Amino acid sequence: MFLNLKQLFTGERDSLPVDCTLDFSELEYMNNHPFMHPVRVSGDVSVIAEVVTLDAVADFIHDCKCDRCLAEIHKPVQIPIKHVLVTIDTQDNDNDIVLVKNYLLPLDDLVREDLILSLPSKNLCREDCHGLCPGCGKELTDGPCGCTSKTIDPRLEILRQLTESE
Ligand SMILES: [Zn+2]
Ligand SMILES: [Zn+2]
Repeated sequence: MFLNLKQLFTGERDSLPVDCTLDFSELEYMNNHPFMHPVRVSGDVSVIAEVVTLDAVADFIHDCKCDRCLAEIHKPVQIPIKHVLVTIDTQDNDNDIVLVKNYLLPLDDLVREDLILSLPSKNLCREDCHGLCPGCGKELTDGPCGCTSKTIDPRLEILRQLTESE
């Protein structure tokens, strides 16, 4: 989806509302599809002191799995989508400055990048998630599973069988 910003850059108008819903359900990240739900982007592009600025908010549900117990997490998140838009390459490596070619802003690409950058490196269903028992697979957050057998390293298990058969 492209936003035509020509009127803003030529001074014909000083603001343009942005309100759309983008679909990133196909996007794969770390073996997950983090944006299964539509992403709502709302705000505006405005000219303040001759600087064209996109000032919007992306509202979405971050879909992921708990790193410890693999429970599904659907977390509502709101992130700012804020960038200065320029039509002349400033050679600036600042991520907040976006070069707009032919006055057309590819909103999907911009928002996709911001969304990915916003994703946390760790996902936990709750801060104190204890994960799963490696023996029986039960969730340990609500208490011990009652497993008495200690889990045996498969390599040690082979050793044990070897020594027993002698
Ligand atoms: Zn968990
Ligand atoms: Zn167990």
